[in-house]
Amino acid sequence: MQQLFQIIKTFKMAKGNITLTMIKPYAVQHGYVGPILARINEAGFRIAAMKYLQLSLRQAEAFYEVHRERPFFERLTRFMSNGPIVAAILEKENAVDDYRLLIGATDPTRAEEGTLRKLFGASIEQNAVHGSDSDDNAIREASFFFSELERF
Ligand code: ATP
Ligand code: MG
Repeated sequence: MQQLFQIIKTFKMAKGNITLTMIKPYAVQHGYVGPILARINEAGFRIAAMKYLQLSLRQAEAFYEVHRERPFFERLTRFMSNGPIVAAILEKENAVDDYRLLIGATDPTRAEEGTLRKLFGASIEQNAVHGSDSDDNAIREASFFFSELERF
């Protein structure tokens, strides 16, 4: 029976159905966790895992490893480790693309009206939320934060 549940759980986490989000320190500090989660729910995402934590600088560097050579890497990793975040696995059909539509462009000044980054972001560096950019990265990023026992 336990095995059957595990198989169902793995199936539900199949490629294409999940994305990983972080509500970033700026948005947490400004009290936007509630409003952001409400919009995530309204948009039809199911929360499959969630935690409130603060990344160390090393952990932020590991998460953003692909950006190591970019000029904003140091500022980004310092910002992401300077206060608590909310990390969550969101589940929905076509999760990665649908969530990127909900959050909008990286730069809040260019983000579409009504998107999370438009509503709650301060700047391109201190935008409100992260969303995975591919199914493979969603799986990698989900495993970065959550063990199998922490996913529902
Ligand atoms: P995220 O990965 O956080 O969802 P994204 O996929 O829209 O954002 P990326 O290109 O992956 O954008 O950049 C990661 C993060 O690095 C951005 O969310 C932003 O905080 C920061 N960033 C990206 N481009 C710039 C830039 N030109 N100047 C400063 N910070 C930037
Ligand atoms: Mg990205």
